[in-house]
Amino acid sequence: MEKKISISQIREVAQEAYDEVKKQTGGKNADYIPYLANIDSDLFGLSICLTNGQTINIGDTDYRFGIESVSKVHTAILILRQYGAQKVLDMIGADATGLPFNSIIAILLENDHPSTPLVNAGAISACSMVQPTGDSDKKWNVIVQNITELCGSAPQLIDELYQSETATNFNNRSIAWLLKNYDRIYDDPELALDLYTRQCSLGVTAGQLSIAAGTIANNGVNPVTGQHVFEAGLAPKITSMISSVGFYEHSGDWMYTAGIPAKSGVGGGVMAVLPGVMGISAFAPPLDEAGNSVKAQMSIRFIMNRLGLGVFNGDNVTITE
Ligand code: GLU
Repeated sequence: MEKKISISQIREVAQEAYDEVKKQTGGKNADYIPYLANIDSDLFGLSICLTNGQTINIGDTDYRFGIESVSKVHTAILILRQYGAQKVLDMIGADATGLPFNSIIAILLENDHPSTPLVNAGAISACSMVQPTGDSDKKWNVIVQNITELCGSAPQLIDELYQSETATNFNNRSIAWLLKNYDRIYDDPELALDLYTRQCSLGVTAGQLSIAAGTIANNGVNPVTGQHVFEAGLAPKITSMISSVGFYEHSGDWMYTAGIPAKSGVGGGVMAVLPGVMGISAFAPPLDEAGNSVKAQMSIRFIMNRLGLGVFNGDNVTITE
């Protein structure tokens, strides 16, 4: 069906979602990474980037928070750009684990396979694949450049977060070496682990993440800068990965109730993609037990349901003035 929605309607519903959800309490900051435990739990920002380049920003949308697992989407796009869709499927996979993001048993259950670049194992493996292999500085520059192109502006390393994660990432260290044992690390394991830890420690704003989501929704063309960041054919690949595992073991419930592929991070950020229409990002530190921001989930779900939108609705959506 043809569906027309005006920009003012989207603005109104976003404001309503923000006002409604801001009052909600529930969840708690990630505490296994000391830096995240101390972030102000009342911060809340909501940003939308339409594929026509218009943006909506409400609340703390300029606050720089730890991108954490949302960076997995960016680096998955990077290796898709460098290797193509088939090689990423062969070397990592695109399957849901149904298990927590940092699961070690998932690696064993998936026949020694990291499953998808959007869980810790696959993301560490993805960092190992980034070219040029063997050169940490060059790899890091490529990772940051890719995120900059997707967001339309540069992220900034939160050094305190990087130190905090590096001092406590023993589980991820085990994952890196287990993957090495199964030949699923394509560079030095310590180098790959360090790049993964560093990319998780990048500070971004909800405004930036909504533009990155808008770039995916716009088939690889950044709606704000106009830059052609990646091939249009990769957009459905990355969106499918996000929809199957973006909310970890709650991904099915999320798709069922909100109808929009979205990726969360334990820093409290979520980035959601409605193909052809818009990117949405919300940020609020308190998380549910699976590690997904409570307010971000509520606000994005509110917008989708109130506007009657969803990837499974079969509507051809046009945004009007
Ligand atoms: N850096 C975090 C970790 O590896 C990211 C987890 C997440 O955001 O889901 O544990």
